[in-house]
Amino acid sequence: MLATFPQEIQADSENLTITWKDGFTSNFNLLDLRKKCPCAVCCGGHGGKIGAATGHITSIQLISWRKVGRYALNFTWSDNHDTGIYSYDNLRAYSGGKSELPT
Ligand SMILES: [Zn+2]
Repeated sequence: MLATFPQEIQADSENLTITWKDGFTSNFNLLDLRKKCPCAVCCGGHGGKIGAATGHITSIQLISWRKVGRYALNFTWSDNHDTGIYSYDNLRAYSGGKSELPT
């Protein structure tokens, strides 16, 4: 589990950078990350497709973030959205080139 635990998390106006315990660094575009929000609202309800309700968003700011337990991050976005739980595994998978969250 060493690989999927963040050592350092930094955010600026456009990007989120996570440095993992194993030294790997992941860079995420905030807008891209917002559109990948895995919560039910953004997925268009149960069984919906990720991104179904976020396609109209063209700009976003990250207001704050917090750790959820030992496995995930929760972001508060400038569109007052804060229900997405992004697991470390998924975040790490994004940066490995996978484009969609496993369900
Ligand atoms: Zn969402």
